Amino acid sequence: MHEISLCLSAMELIEQQARQHGAKRVTAVWLEIGALSCIEEHALRFSFASAAHHTLAEGCQLEIEYLPARAWCWTCSMSVLIEKHDEGCPQCGGHQLRVESGDSLRLKQLEVE
Ligand SMILES: [Zn+2]
Repeated sequence: MHEISLCLSAMELIEQQARQHGAKRVTAVWLEIGALSCIEEHALRFSFASAAHHTLAEGCQLEIEYLPARAWCWTCSMSVLIEKHDEGCPQCGGHQLRVESGDSLRLKQLEVE
């Protein structure tokens, strides 16, 4: 389950940023997930809650946004957006794609108090 390691590294970043802002508590976290990251939302929420144990973010609200991934299609020779795994190029339906972004998890925003 790679969600837990992603959440642990996200949590390090969250705590670091919260401390920089002198926050006592993190009330909400926004995460952006690339559409090709293979991250399952349920697993992510569960992992996030365990990673948040005994941190400033314990019990905070978690907002998850999925971002389409950007890939290079060799057939069309252009950069395209893909929403799902195993989905071909939206222009030509081909699968000769090189993913350029959208396979990771990113901390978008924090709400602290
Ligand atoms: Zn194409």
